[in-house]
Formats: sequence, C-alpha cells, structure tokens
Amino acid sequence: MKPKNVVLLGCTGSIGVSTQRVAADLPEQVRIVGMASRGNVDGLAEAARKFTPLAVAMSNRVKAEELKRRITGRDACATDTGGDAHPTKVLAGERGLVELATMPEADIVLVAIVGTAGLEPALAAIRAGKDIAVASKEILVMAGELVMSEARKHGVKVLPVDSEHSAIFQCLEGRDPSEVKRLILTASGGPFRRTPHEEFESITVAEALKHPSWNMGQKITIDSATLFNKGLEMIEARWLFNIDIDHVDVVIHPQSVVHSMVEFLDGSILAQLSAPDMRYPIQYALTWPRRLPNSMPPTDLAKIAELTFENPDPGRFPSLRLAREAGRTGGTMPAVLNAANEVAVARFVDGKIKFTQIFETVEKVTRAHRAIASPSLDVIVAADLWARKEAEHAV
Ligand code: MG
Repeated sequence: MKPKNVVLLGCTGSIGVSTQRVAADLPEQVRIVGMASRGNVDGLAEAARKFTPLAVAMSNRVKAEELKRRITGRDACATDTGGDAHPTKVLAGERGLVELATMPEADIVLVAIVGTAGLEPALAAIRAGKDIAVASKEILVMAGELVMSEARKHGVKVLPVDSEHSAIFQCLEGRDPSEVKRLILTASGGPFRRTPHEEFESITVAEALKHPSWNMGQKITIDSATLFNKGLEMIEARWLFNIDIDHVDVVIHPQSVVHSMVEFLDGSILAQLSAPDMRYPIQYALTWPRRLPNSMPPTDLAKIAELTFENPDPGRFPSLRLAREAGRTGGTMPAVLNAANEVAVARFVDGKIKFTQIFETVEKVTRAHRAIASPSLDVIVAADLWARKEAEHAV
C-alpha cells in the first residue's frame, strides 16, 4: 500500500503514544508528517527526533518557543539523521494546530486532543479534504451532526479510533445500513459493577480511578466508573453510523475482549474481538481499508477463557438514560451533557462533590437547557460555556 501521511494531534497523551508505537511498528505504511501537543515539550521533542515530521505544533505559545530552541539545537548538531535531514517547522497556538491539520502533505489527521480544542482543527482538516480519525470524544458528541455533514460535503472519511466504534465500523463493512437492527456497545462496567447502590454515595476518588481493564487518563477513567463514557459513546455512534439512538444499546462485558457488536435484521450478531490494546483500533483507522501484519502479540482466547455479558443497571447508572435523552433531543443538548459532566467530574476529583452528584449535576443542567437544532460551531461552543457555568452553580 501507498504510505499514509498522518498528522497526529495530541501526540503525547495515551492515544498519541499508542499511535507513535503503531507508526514505529509500520514505518513503510504509516508516516507521521505532523505532530502536536498542548504543552509537553519533552514528549514532543523526543517524538520529533524519532519521526522527523515536517512540522510540529504546540498549543502553548511559551512552550512552543522552548520547543523551537530544543529542536533547533538538535538540528544544529544532528548527525544521526544523515544527509536527507530536514528542519522540522515549529508552529504555535490554535493557528498552529489548524495549519498542521490542513498541511498539503497530510492524507489523514488523527485527532486525540482532549476537550474542545480538537473541534476547530478537525473541521479545518475535513474542509481541506483530509480524512480524519477521531479519538477525541468531544468531536462527535458535541458536533457530530456538523462534522458528519461537512465530511459528506467534502467527500472525506471519518474513521473511528475508539475501540467500540472501530469494532462496529468493522462489523458494518460491506453491509447495507437498512439491514442493521441495532448496535451493541460493550462496556467493562468499571470498578463499581458489583457495588451496591447504597454505597455509591461514599465512593472515593481513589476507588473511582482504579479501572479493571483499560489504562487511561483521569477524566475518562472516572467516566468509565459512572458509565458516562458509554453514554457519550452512544451519542458518538448515533452520528458516526447515522442511526437512531434508540437503536444503540449497551451491554456490560467485563473482559473487554468483544469490543462491540452489530445485530442485523435476521437476528445474527457480528462481533470484533482482540486483547484490550488501543494499538488495534488505531492501526485499523490508519491503514483502512487494509489489514496489515504487525508485531502485536496474538490474542490468546484460551487464556482469556471466559467472555461474560450482563445488562447495565439503570438505577445505579442513570448516565445511560441521560445520554440517550440528550441524543434523542440532539442539537446543542449533547454538548451541554458533555460539559456538565466534565465540570462535575472535575469537582468530584477535587473532593467538592460526591460520586452520585455527578449524575445529579448533569441531570439538573440538561433539564435547564433549551436545545438549539442543527447548531454551528459557535453555537455549540456557546452552549458548552453556558453548561459549564450552570454546572459550577449546581455544584
Ligand atoms: Mg471506548
């Protein structure tokens, strides 16, 4: 296959580092031409040394200067890159991210920036005719309708990086959408799968940060404990696969080996399985539609031995209902749900509110919001800000 030129936005976070490992494993097929980080100078300098991208960007301008000095210093005395070494361009700020996302050499832009900062570069990439690989939840949760309609307009692909959506994407390939009965997202169930309801009030931050199967950032780990992560994924699936949210269900599967499933009209269910390692879905997004050999250890089913499934408990985890309601309402409501949850999680981590108040805060804020249909990016961002203020008041 012709090598894919990849721009990696968010190269020093958990997904970014896994993406670097995928690229290092497939140097002939995956070429990183641009990389960005918010402010991790050491991480980005090290990655730039390894991949010699054409350009790098740092959102924090002060840090960008530091990075520039570091990289220029490196270039001045570089001997290991040989005669074809090129100077890596250093870009800064939000403008820098957009410039990177639209660079002419890029085929695909993988967006793994946490928060709303990934929205603008993602849309810019689409409008510049680039395929995008989506790892940041906010892109499809907040702006799914806008992003998918822009992608259709510009004839580009939106490829999922999240393990669940990658699984569904793989199960749907070659199928007519009219044959789909429902999408079934699997959830690990988090650390409180067996915790009785009456103990939910006293759940501590340390307990919530212990995830049984995936090793991830703090925010997403708390979201896995509340199942808001799965709720947000229901909304993402609704947009990504253009399906009514009432045809998106969740099943608890603690082993995290079946990454999600599709049930078809004839009653057959297709599933995608692998060990829980983000390098699988990342590679598929970057090499799609090809499947390529890699150095990943094989998934040992006999060692896994057991795959179990159970229904989520709506009483202990109202997050799924809240997400479904927000998905049904659409417009600005999912952005409001997302923002209220983010504030509530931050306050829980600060020790300001109880675990159960995360649900209460989100419910209160979404109830108070009057959704605006088919919002533009500005309207979405305004709704996000409104929800953050409301949530701060609520807590
Ligand atoms: Mg996931």
